[in-house]
Amino acid sequence: MSSSTALSASIAPITSGVASKLSPTTHRVPRHEHSVLRPPDGLIYTIISIAIFLVFFYQPHSWRVALWKSIRPVIPDERLFLLVGLLLSHGLVFIIANLVMTAIYYVEHPFFEQFKIQSKPWPWKRGKAERDAYFALIRKSILLVFFNQYVITPILLWTSYAGQKKAGMNGDIDNVPYWYTTLIHITICMVIEDTLFYWAHRALHHPAIYGPVHKVHHSYKTSIGLASEYAHPIEFIFSNAVPFSTGPLLCGVLTGTGMHYLSFFMWSMLRTGETVDGHSGFEFPWSPYRLLPFSGSSTAHDFHHSVNIGNYASFFTWWDHWMGTDQAFKRWEAKMSNQQTEKSTSKDPTPTAAPAPTTAHPSASTSATTTDAADSTTEPESDADATPKNEVADEGIARRTRSSKKKKSRRVE
Ligand SMILES: [Zn+2]
Ligand SMILES: [Zn+2]
Repeated sequence: MSSSTALSASIAPITSGVASKLSPTTHRVPRHEHSVLRPPDGLIYTIISIAIFLVFFYQPHSWRVALWKSIRPVIPDERLFLLVGLLLSHGLVFIIANLVMTAIYYVEHPFFEQFKIQSKPWPWKRGKAERDAYFALIRKSILLVFFNQYVITPILLWTSYAGQKKAGMNGDIDNVPYWYTTLIHITICMVIEDTLFYWAHRALHHPAIYGPVHKVHHSYKTSIGLASEYAHPIEFIFSNAVPFSTGPLLCGVLTGTGMHYLSFFMWSMLRTGETVDGHSGFEFPWSPYRLLPFSGSSTAHDFHHSVNIGNYASFFTWWDHWMGTDQAFKRWEAKMSNQQTEKSTSKDPTPTAAPAPTTAHPSASTSATTTDAADSTTEPESDADATPKNEVADEGIARRTRSSKKKKSRRVE
């Protein structure tokens, strides 16, 4: 496709510099710390995340057929049915997830607070000026998210309908997919989406594109669920919609079976849930997305929003690893882990002892979350030594990195 060729050409200067810095030994993809392997005290959360995964993907086939037979005839026109189904599947997850998150932000219950990524107060609790600025940003976000979802999406879907039919996508009642077909198709979608999203997102950080386009999304230095789809319409089309919809179009070619709308709507729900989770500001240990091999994490994307460096992918970590764009994050994680280890092993209570090192979340570098003062145009290699600028205590991050270190040592054993 000509657009992808142009994209490749535009990002080539970025990628060549980073790729050349990779040594052969760095090419092994590490298992991310937020994976299915967890400390024993997190076992219950792993069981919950597996249960969510199973409930989402597995249903007896007769149930699926019955469900489809009941909803497909509601809107006889297939194109309109597809549009309404997509908007509902997305809207349902997006609205419910954000309502739940809003309740969690508001209540600040200690149970949830233990999973909060940043230790500093939410922007709306940092004084009147920041609160007003943040709420103004939220109001703008609601309008732009609405525009993207209910104006841009229908146009894209309506105009691409012929292509979808050619690609074998269908809503046939006598062709309802088995659960494993849905699982295979959605897995394909995740891999393709992650790849396209990585490169599109990285292109968005090119200095020529960042300012006029991607800076909108990076208005959130402390991200919340709503931030996930707060994006310039150009970004929404090329970095969100295209990566999302390419996998469904390729399922027919790759598997010989076109994607059914039931699977397509489930893919929409899964992708929407993932991006809200990634922007929520919490690292929930029961997140089913962390079950994925080489899963990304909310912490990684929070780091991206906080310091604007690296961690460009959505579902997985392999592109960031292969391209070396996770190096700043890894160094920061290691630094936090080391500092916390020193802190916990230092039992010397003598007054002359040096003060314990302070762990930090990188977002502490920006006092105002809604200003762009700290924005960097983000050639990843140019910020290779990115270190959080001003540091404050962050027990949540430190705890997670400590768990990671324990886990690594267990694996070595
Ligand atoms: Zn970005
Ligand atoms: Zn983001």
